[in-house]
Amino acid sequence: MSVTVRFAPSPTGNIHIGNVRTALFNWLYALKHGGSFILRFDDTDVARSKQEYADQIAADLDWLGVRPHRVEYQSKRGAAHDAAAEKLKQSGLLYPCYETAEELERRRKIRLSRRLPPVYGREALKLADEEKTAFEAEGRKPHWRFLLPNFANDPFETQRTEIHWDDVVRGPQTVDLASMSDPVLVREDGSYLYTLPSVVDDIDLGVTHVIRGDDHVTNTGAQIALFRALGSEAPAFGHHNLLTTTTGEGLSKRSGALSIKALHKAGYESMAVVSLAVLIGTSEAVAAAPSLEVMAESFDPSSSSKSAAKFDPAELDVLNRQIVHQLPFETVAARLAAVGVDTGDPRAEGFWTVIRANVEKVEDAADWWAIVTQAPATDAVLEGDDLAYAREAFDLLPDGEVGEATWGEWTSAVKSATGRKGRALFMPLRIALTGRSSGPEIADLLPLLGREEILGRRP
Ligand code: GLU
Repeated sequence: MSVTVRFAPSPTGNIHIGNVRTALFNWLYALKHGGSFILRFDDTDVARSKQEYADQIAADLDWLGVRPHRVEYQSKRGAAHDAAAEKLKQSGLLYPCYETAEELERRRKIRLSRRLPPVYGREALKLADEEKTAFEAEGRKPHWRFLLPNFANDPFETQRTEIHWDDVVRGPQTVDLASMSDPVLVREDGSYLYTLPSVVDDIDLGVTHVIRGDDHVTNTGAQIALFRALGSEAPAFGHHNLLTTTTGEGLSKRSGALSIKALHKAGYESMAVVSLAVLIGTSEAVAAAPSLEVMAESFDPSSSSKSAAKFDPAELDVLNRQIVHQLPFETVAARLAAVGVDTGDPRAEGFWTVIRANVEKVEDAADWWAIVTQAPATDAVLEGDDLAYAREAFDLLPDGEVGEATWGEWTSAVKSATGRKGRALFMPLRIALTGRSSGPEIADLLPLLGREEILGRRP
């Protein structure tokens, strides 16, 4: 059986690293099994769904390297949802209910006081046709519940009904359908809650594996029953742990700073985001992975822990540095050009190789390019004796072309002449040359600067 997965975001905001964990679990699963990946926009909430969010989600996934084989919008599949609802109504599995929220709450309290489980007692099933007509005459509109198959003959005599599935992430799971209320599938205004459209679409799109956050575990029992009621075998399910902030709060589409769009804009490497989003909260070490293909080979969803994992943005910085420090010039040339590095300059490639270990983000290279090709920065200044020392040292720059050996020769000459060594010797020169107290090896910077520029920086 070929694998078909789907990532089903609601386009009601920008996706964050936690949403992307779900997308990537699906994508890596599909890659590993040679399967296909559907991007399905769950946009039935017309008031909150926006095309601009859908477009941004598609762009975010593309940046991360997730390339859907197919894109679907739930809002365009209304006819299929209506047909399924009708079929369930015909077979008595979707029944109208007229209770208000207050009535339901009152009943729930009564059940609790009688030590009964606080589930819906199916009172609406007892309504006679005249009672329904009377409610409708009052202007009440029904909401519709799915009759869970948790009884033998009498729906008021529920019995333990176990639904089992072998979760791709969590292993064997059991849910008792008698422990839950018949889920509402259709609201008073005729709109669908998430459950029915999701199941109908999973059937029609041939989804074989539903991989999603573990906040959906309890829904899965009822959804499996719904798949069966619609005459279909349920797909396999996998529920991964969720990510929280460092203080334990759930990530939300409203926590803008952690959105994928914001991380992209802040200059993070996509593989740093991918590596952290996938490996955090698993038994694997969090390390920068070279590519999604390499990750897919060893991807094992069952290595996720069962509890929520804390997402610490500082870890992203560590991974980002690891990646940036290895990036070849060809890979970053266009991005360097975009921030003002003249990539046609013969020094550009050497420049990148020298400075990449000193930048957090690729775009930070622009500052070093300005330091090398224009003027030193002004972050650090020479003080006290160092000014006179640096002037004397600059006068000792060896003759001839500046090359790899220049720094060694220069410092020997300076040492003999001034008696300075170590930091006292090199730091004033570093500051005079770059205007900073840290940075790439001076030995490597000198050939990039060239003789004239070096001498021009004599303080
Ligand atoms: N739109 C649903 C959500 O974002 C999808 C859940 C699922 O994958 O089934 O929670």
